[in-house]
Amino acid sequence: MNVRPAEKPIAQIQADAVVVGLYADEPPSGPAADVDKATGGLLGRLVESGEIGTGPGTVTPLLAAPGMAAGQVVCVGLGPRKLFDAGAAFRAAGSGAKYLAARPRARVAFGFDSQWPAAWHEAAVAGAIVGCHGEDLYRAEKKRHPLGEILWVGKEAAALPGGLILGESINFVRRLVDEPPDSMYPESFAGVARQVARDLGLEIEVWDRAKLTQERCGSLLAVARGSHREPQLVQIHYRGAGKSAPTLALIGKGVTFDSGGLSIKTNDQMKTMKCDMAGAATVLGAIRAIAMLKLPVNVSGYMGLVENMTGPAAFKLGDVLTARNGVTIEVHNTDAEGRLVLADVLTVAAEQHPARMIDLATLTGACMVALGENVAGLMTNDQAWCDEVAAAACEVGEPVWQLPMYAEFDEQIASRVADIKNTGEGRYGGAMTAAKLLARFVEDIPWTHIDIAGPAYTEKPKAWLDGGATGALMRSLVEVARRISSE
Ligand SMILES: [Zn+2]
Repeated sequence: MNVRPAEKPIAQIQADAVVVGLYADEPPSGPAADVDKATGGLLGRLVESGEIGTGPGTVTPLLAAPGMAAGQVVCVGLGPRKLFDAGAAFRAAGSGAKYLAARPRARVAFGFDSQWPAAWHEAAVAGAIVGCHGEDLYRAEKKRHPLGEILWVGKEAAALPGGLILGESINFVRRLVDEPPDSMYPESFAGVARQVARDLGLEIEVWDRAKLTQERCGSLLAVARGSHREPQLVQIHYRGAGKSAPTLALIGKGVTFDSGGLSIKTNDQMKTMKCDMAGAATVLGAIRAIAMLKLPVNVSGYMGLVENMTGPAAFKLGDVLTARNGVTIEVHNTDAEGRLVLADVLTVAAEQHPARMIDLATLTGACMVALGENVAGLMTNDQAWCDEVAAAACEVGEPVWQLPMYAEFDEQIASRVADIKNTGEGRYGGAMTAAKLLARFVEDIPWTHIDIAGPAYTEKPKAWLDGGATGALMRSLVEVARRISSE
C-alpha cells in the first residue's frame, strides 16, 4: 500500500472518503473542526444530537457532505480524550479503514488530531493498514479490500514510512497465522523465513531433524515425533549495530498445528490450533519490521517449528525427555508441548550469550483464565528487564500484565522420576508453572516470557480488526528494540 502526506486542506481532498476522529463529549477539533466548518456546522450538530457516535470503535458515515470534495466523511469515535493512547489511535484508524475496506477504494484520506505525538500518528497509520486486511485468504469474494492509496492530513510526514512498515509487518504476521495448517507447516514457515532473510540481507540458519538430533534437542524432537512433518529450528540474525553491541534475542513458539498429541484436544479446542505458531510468526514479523526500519540494534530471532500430532511414533505420557542442556523432563501431558519446544530453543539462544531475551508463546489456557482474551501475561527472572518490556508495551498501547514467579511454583513441576515434569499439580497457576519450566533453560540471562494465548487470535471480529490472527505484541517488540537502540 502507499501512504503519503495530503497536500490540500481536508475539505478539498479528492478521495473516496476522508476519515476524521471525534473525542467523546467535545465539539469537533483538528481536522474534524475543519470538516465542521466546511459543512456549515453540520458535523457539530450531528455530534451534538447524538446521531454521530464518539465512543471508541463507533463508525458513522456521512455521505455527500456539503462543502466536501470527498465522496463521504467517515466519523470515527475516539472516546474520552484523557483515556486516549497509541493503542486507541491504532484502533480508531483501524475502525475507519475496516469499514471502508468492505468495498474497493482508490484513495482514502485520514485526518486525526494535529496535537498527537508522532508515535500516535505512526500507530494510526499501522492501524489503517491492519484494518483493511482480512482473514478471508481463500474466499473468491473478498470481504476486505486494501485501500488503494492513503493520504495523511497534518504535519506528521515522518511518521508515515514507519507506520507503513509496522502495519504491513503486522499483516505479514497475521497472514502466516491465518494460513491453514496444511499450508503453513514447519518447512513452509522456514521457507518464508528464508525469503525474509534473502529480501532483507539477514543471516539465517535452519536446523532440520538430522541436525536437531545431532545437536541433542531431545525435548523439541519428542514433540515432533507424532507428525510426518520435518521439525525446523530457524535462527535469523539482524545486525544493525556493531559487533560489540549487545544482542536482543527473540524466541518464538512455532507449533504449526497442535492436536494436543495423545492428550488430545476436543474438536472445539482444536479448531483454531493453526494459531499455535503465533509466537514464531510475531518474532519473524518483528525482525522484518526492525530490519526495514534499519534500527541501530542487534536482534536475533529463534523459532522452534513443529507439528504436534498423534502418529505411531508420538511421544507418550510417562516418557522422559533429555533436553539439550541435559535437564530431564517427565511428560505428564502431551498438550503441554509448547514449553518442551521452547526449552531447547531457549537453550540454543542462551548459548549465544544475548544480553537479554524475550520469548513469545501461545502457551497456556490458564493465562487466558487469569487475564482474559486481550491481555498478554508477562513472567520474568529479572524485574528491571520485565519493567522495560512492560513500558514498551504501554508506550504502544498493547495491554500486558505481570504474573508472579514465586519459588513455590517450582515445587509444582518437581518429578519423582526426572529433574522436572511438564505440568504443574492440578488446574491452578498453569501460566506460572509453564514459565517456571522455561526458566530452567535461560541460564542467568535477563529473560521475559510473554504468554500471548489470549491476544494472538480472535475468533470474533473487532470493530478495528477482522477475525483470526491479530499480530498482537509485534509493535511492542519493535518498541523494545527502539528503546535499546536509543540507550
Ligand atoms: Zn498444546
